[in-house]
Amino acid sequence: MQESTPAQQAEALRAEINEHNHRYYVLDAPVVSDAAYDKLMNSLIALEQAHPELITPESPTQRVGAQPVSALGSIRHAVPMRSLGNAFEEEDVQAFSKRVFDTLYGAGLARAEDQVQYMAELKFDGLAVSLRYEDGKLVQAATRGDGQTGEDITSNIRTLRSVPLKLKGDYPQVLEVRGEVLMNRRDFEKLNQAQQERGDKVFVNPRNAAAGSLRQLDPRITAKRPLRFYAYGWGEIRKVHDGQLEVFRQESGSPDMPRKTHAQMLDWLQALGLPVSDTRKLVCGAEGLLEYYRHIGETRSTLPFDIDGVVYKVDSLQAQEVLGYVARAPRFAVAHKFPAQEETTRLLSIEVQVGRTGAITPVARLEPVFVGGVTVTNATLHNEDEIRRKDVRVGDTVVVRRAGDVIPEVLAPVLDLRPPGTSLFVMPTECPVCGSAIERPEDEAVSRCTGGLFCAAQRKQSLSHAAGRKALDIDGLGEKLVEQLVDSGRVKSLADLFTLTSDELAAYERMGRKSADNLVAALDKARTPDLGRLLYALGIRHVGETTARDLALHFGSVEAVMAADEAALLQVHDVGMVVAASILNFFGEPHNREVITQLVEAGVHASAPEQASGSDLPLAGKTLVLTGTMPNWTRDEATRHILAAGGKVSGSVSRKTAYVVAGEEAGSKLTKAAELGVAVLDEDGLKALLGVG
Ligand code: NAD
Repeated sequence: MQESTPAQQAEALRAEINEHNHRYYVLDAPVVSDAAYDKLMNSLIALEQAHPELITPESPTQRVGAQPVSALGSIRHAVPMRSLGNAFEEEDVQAFSKRVFDTLYGAGLARAEDQVQYMAELKFDGLAVSLRYEDGKLVQAATRGDGQTGEDITSNIRTLRSVPLKLKGDYPQVLEVRGEVLMNRRDFEKLNQAQQERGDKVFVNPRNAAAGSLRQLDPRITAKRPLRFYAYGWGEIRKVHDGQLEVFRQESGSPDMPRKTHAQMLDWLQALGLPVSDTRKLVCGAEGLLEYYRHIGETRSTLPFDIDGVVYKVDSLQAQEVLGYVARAPRFAVAHKFPAQEETTRLLSIEVQVGRTGAITPVARLEPVFVGGVTVTNATLHNEDEIRRKDVRVGDTVVVRRAGDVIPEVLAPVLDLRPPGTSLFVMPTECPVCGSAIERPEDEAVSRCTGGLFCAAQRKQSLSHAAGRKALDIDGLGEKLVEQLVDSGRVKSLADLFTLTSDELAAYERMGRKSADNLVAALDKARTPDLGRLLYALGIRHVGETTARDLALHFGSVEAVMAADEAALLQVHDVGMVVAASILNFFGEPHNREVITQLVEAGVHASAPEQASGSDLPLAGKTLVLTGTMPNWTRDEATRHILAAGGKVSGSVSRKTAYVVAGEEAGSKLTKAAELGVAVLDEDGLKALLGVG
């Protein structure tokens, strides 16, 4: 194949970028990620820099956005709305700082690079708009469009509560305010939920939702969307001067500008009643810029809205004027972008993972993609309904998001890139790990493997659960070891754990003799658990800590719980039909019963809670509920004291509750106690009742 000439390459890049611009700005339906788009744009910029003769006025590097072609009217901007140059690496920022300094030094406006002042701001990930105020009243609003002409969104903008219809204070005759319209993440999630319930279009991200909402033909729809506006700049400004209407030179430092610096201009806009984000800072030199970048990068997830970077602007308006503009962007400002949190990649397959209770989670296997600062190969798809709602199919190009430490998620397919012959995901009918049937109760979103402890995946997770602090509290039995023990076939059930020897354990990966000995000691200790802990450790669905303790109190032994029928189970405080059915189910499985027998054989003997009996005990026949944190006693300690005094401890407040013992941060149980008129005690009150100091 013949090498293409630079001219041909430029031509091809332009065609491709123009197509993406149209999809992104006009159709609100991009097919590549922003990072991929930025890469194309940077290649074109580099190519044009190497071959300046190739630059044409129509090149996308010379213009912003795309021509508006929507049914909304168009508005010609009095002062063009520009874009921003991009920086991705620290070196880009250093180069920017150097370029700025060189020019300002030449003009006698700066003496040292690290003394140049910048306003550092957030780069809001929404869409740029221009609001025109005449005599303080909002008369017109437009999108950026291609920078020269935008769409008329006046009626839509008027529905935004954060946009003042009238300015306050000392406003000029004409003021064009530039800023960003966006949607807070929480509002976006609520909107999407409502859209989904109504069967309407679900938006991919807040930016897409904001753009779609603002470019509505019917402002009543926009009015219902929670859009916000933040001002960060200005266009035309005019004021009456010596009886004449005079135009200030825009975006820069005419001596007549209302203020001398960008920071002061933002304060001024704020004083006129316009919303300006407080997360802005005056900094000096490249070091100051990078410090701001790092700080915002770390605190980004605490912002209520998405940002895709920060923006640095030379603060002095006079310096801005000297630096001027290249075709589509100012030379005095740059956008320093964060690594993309959203990327597109291919969905290779959908596999299912099995959780402790058998819950089946579909997981997307992806072509490796660098997103949110790491390479992602898997992402959760939550459940079957979610996959259908999003219509994600194997073979699709999908948008993947990874923000902060949140687990990566597949947001949506790029429908325009769907290859032929794809089909909808169907939940397997058999567990991929153990082959048992997968069932989905009618009123639940989650499908489950019915294999119980027979399933290796469930076994691993239940072993980890059983080893947990609130269960058998087996120190030193980490996830990795559990995995090895199950995979090697050595541990098939909870009971097998108790037959492990130190010699055997020492042979496993990353296990020394000492850790092996420690683990054997921990297992020994765990051989005589409280019955409640043992019942909890079994991981019976719907049997949490409190229910396990109630069962222990009521029945006194595992055998008695196993022998109980529904009627007997329903006798237990707080056990209803659902819990009873789950317990019956669990012990109905032969392999679960077998595990209990094996546990006994392995020397595990649970001790029944020491509930003292005798009608003369201070709490005989009384049920207490513990809530919140007590100053001295842990819950376990308090429970032991109560049991020893003949009382019972329950997890929920009812009319039969004798006392609620409330510590700090007690919640709904305290409210319930008040409603039912149940007596409330604190730790001291409980101690007094028990007659202990
Ligand atoms: P840009 O977003 O990189 O920078 C300019 C824009 O930043 C301004 O127009 C303004 O809207 C915004 N901004 C936010 N905070 C600001 C602040 N404090 N001060 C000044 N401006 C601020 O450049 P662009 O040309 O507008 O491109 C828009 C984005 O759209 C880019 O991230 C690009 O990747 C993306 N894009 C993607 C596709 C695609 O197909 N995926 C196509 C076109 C553009």
